[in-house]
Amino acid sequence: MRGVIMHTAGDVRVEERDDPKIIEPTDAIVRLTATCICGSDLWPYRGVEPADHQVMGHEYVGVVEEVGSEVRNVKVGDFVVGSFVISDGTCEICRSGYQSQCVHRQFVSQTIGTQAEKARIPFADGTLVPTPGHPDPELIPSLLAASDVLGTGWFGAVAAEAAPGKTVAVVGDGAVGLMAVLAAKQLGAERIIAMSRHPERQRLALEYGATDIVEERGEEGVAKIKELTGGLGAHSVVEAVGTQESTLQAIGATRPAGYMGIVGVNYEVAIPGIQLFFPGIHVHGGPAPVRRFLPDLIQLIWERKIDPGKVFDLTLPLDQAAEGYRAMDERRAIKVLLTV
Ligand SMILES: [Zn+2]
Repeated sequence: MRGVIMHTAGDVRVEERDDPKIIEPTDAIVRLTATCICGSDLWPYRGVEPADHQVMGHEYVGVVEEVGSEVRNVKVGDFVVGSFVISDGTCEICRSGYQSQCVHRQFVSQTIGTQAEKARIPFADGTLVPTPGHPDPELIPSLLAASDVLGTGWFGAVAAEAAPGKTVAVVGDGAVGLMAVLAAKQLGAERIIAMSRHPERQRLALEYGATDIVEERGEEGVAKIKELTGGLGAHSVVEAVGTQESTLQAIGATRPAGYMGIVGVNYEVAIPGIQLFFPGIHVHGGPAPVRRFLPDLIQLIWERKIDPGKVFDLTLPLDQAAEGYRAMDERRAIKVLLTV
């Protein structure tokens, strides 16, 4: 089969890979319909994470081609959406709703690489969710978004306790930030402030339910949020970038005893404890337990109540993955869908 291999930073190629095979009786082989490039794929692309002939990709939808003897909940021919984290679905951590922290957790990006024609998905029952039928083609981008960015933005909003009557501020206008806006709207937030200075992303944020746009960043951004919230700050803030500046901006935008949901991968960030201690801010986040939300998200997409697929603003065939990486790296695209 063909699949993306990152030889080293900045060097992405589509090459022949071995066809995946069932290894464990709990595995499934999925023939992928669509996959995509994630903001986090840019970490190795830019040399922030090491890359040495690395398989790439962790978002995926497709049709089950083969299942191991112990797989019960998905069958050959099912159209499935999977989480970007493999989970057994049975351990104590999974049963508490944190499948992304499963005792058998495995990150799809590091070991499986779904920017490819097929993938072996371990713990198929705990990781994959079948859709009610085979989807119409126009639903595929939205179902693919559920695999990571929608589930991650949703978790950010849930972690920040977005709810009716609340003001939610979202730091970050990438795909995850935009999905957090959509989630806050679905969760009933009264006011949703999107922090963005890109006109196209602002437009999408407004379409997804943002009521206010704040273009300022850093201290100025914080001052603007305070101004919009009677001097208090937002009840709920979603941090969807993961830089030092964005994190301090999110903390500053949160009202005393408010809630902050962190879904930006924050390698280099240092948070002064005192900035959380005195305002008594609740912090929650991490790799999103997408599997917890998948059944509900699939249903919302199936009933056409949400349209998260609009975050894909560039579609390319898998063979042109290198151009997709360039477009995301240069911020010419919010998110790139690869057809298989
Ligand atoms: Zn588990």
